[in-house]
Amino acid sequence: LWQRVGGRVRKAVGDAAFKSWLAPLRPVALHDDRAVLLASTAFLKDWVRNNYQQLLLREFQRDVPHIREIAIHVGLEAAGRGTAKEGVTAGEAGSDEAEAAAAPARAAEPAREDTAVEGLTGLLDAALTFDNFVVGKANELAYAAARRVADSDDVAFNPLFLYSGVGLGKTHLMQAIAWHIVRAKPGRRVMYLSAEKFMYQFIRAVRFKDTMAFKEQFRSVDVLMIDDLQFFTDKNSTQEEFFHTFNELVDRKHQVVISADRSPSDLDGMEERVRSRLGWGLVADIHPTDFELRVGILEQKLAMNADVHVPEDVLQFLAHRITSNVRELEGALKRVIAHHELMGREITLDLARDVLADLLRANSRKITIDEIQKKVAEHFSIKITEMSSSRRARAVARPRQVAMYLSKKLTTRSLPDIGRRFGNRDHTTVLHGVRKIEELIQSDSSLAEDVRLLEAALSN
Ligand code: ADP
Ligand code: MG
Repeated sequence: LWQRVGGRVRKAVGDAAFKSWLAPLRPVALHDDRAVLLASTAFLKDWVRNNYQQLLLREFQRDVPHIREIAIHVGLEAAGRGTAKEGVTAGEAGSDEAEAAAAPARAAEPAREDTAVEGLTGLLDAALTFDNFVVGKANELAYAAARRVADSDDVAFNPLFLYSGVGLGKTHLMQAIAWHIVRAKPGRRVMYLSAEKFMYQFIRAVRFKDTMAFKEQFRSVDVLMIDDLQFFTDKNSTQEEFFHTFNELVDRKHQVVISADRSPSDLDGMEERVRSRLGWGLVADIHPTDFELRVGILEQKLAMNADVHVPEDVLQFLAHRITSNVRELEGALKRVIAHHELMGREITLDLARDVLADLLRANSRKITIDEIQKKVAEHFSIKITEMSSSRRARAVARPRQVAMYLSKKLTTRSLPDIGRRFGNRDHTTVLHGVRKIEELIQSDSSLAEDVRLLEAALSN
């Protein structure tokens, strides 16, 4: 069937595009109304989804009229051939399609939601390995720590706590650790899941009075990885359960790896004792990327994924202009290539400018801490040097806090980064300032108006 469908698709898109994008797909399952295809990388998956999904659907329907949907998943290429590794418990398996994609032999079984208990395989993104991670100043500490955890036979740091703003490589590093361990150390059980998934499973276990099994599944792993811990926002029983599990694993010297969008001490919704325990191992943050690193990442993505030539000046242009996060940078590259493929236009600076006009606009409106300090100082008629001075008089301290608040709100800088820009203050001082202003704008309407005006002026 795939051969027939593929043959027609090849005719429709041409040999070159077919070879780059469609030939690498693996058909893994055919449900009543859905065909499941497996892509080796997230890049390929997105690409096919964005460009060929409708065509694939039409062509499938010619042979199998009741097909309504083409599902494309990322997984090990090998999974479709039955050589997927045992040992990764893919807690991210959120859907039955994902499960089917990873374990074609089970595709006919009804969907089960408790895939993490089942010890299912291959749902980590196959592209997220150490080999594909480009190291630069911004991430070298986090990278070194991740490698150490992946390589060492006993517990290196426990927990390893990775944090950064969005799209800077936390999930990539975590999955790289997981891949490395299951490949290099067969028999070790690794579990990777998001905090949301943990919460969902826990709530489910409570509802079905099955918390023993829930606890058991975590206690039996050698390495537990929880991604995006900031989703545990409320001090509730899920957090309590997480804390028990965490403590038990750490006490038994099993490795725990955690990521979040902020440091342990800034995880507001967490109880103090949990926050403090989270910081006992190694806390490593990933900084915003610099230009060199962005170019390196673009080159790496290109080398890995497609047979397309993108001139150096275009890569540099992207790296210059799309600075917010790596995911967006990658998205920009995909768009340029897609345009080239679909419209047959040569990849040039002009094409990139054209295709990315909206993204470039969004990125150029980036507000800097300098701008914020300047505007705020002007607004309150104080000297700009007071932003980093040590004076604590209300007349300068309050505007300084407003500037900290706006820096946190309007830029992607971390609290420590912001602190450095305000006379090398500690991140807790920044956090205090931010909270103070948050509180005051609830009660002090004239300050609230100041803040509103400043924000509007800065955002324009
Ligand atoms: P986060 O989890 O921090 O939000 P991700 O790990 O999902 O970010 O990264 C977003 C995208 O950027 C992914 O496609 C990832 O592969 C890519 N990426 C981030 N940092 C790097 C890097 N240093 N080298 C290669 N790819 C990277
Ligand atoms: Mg992530």
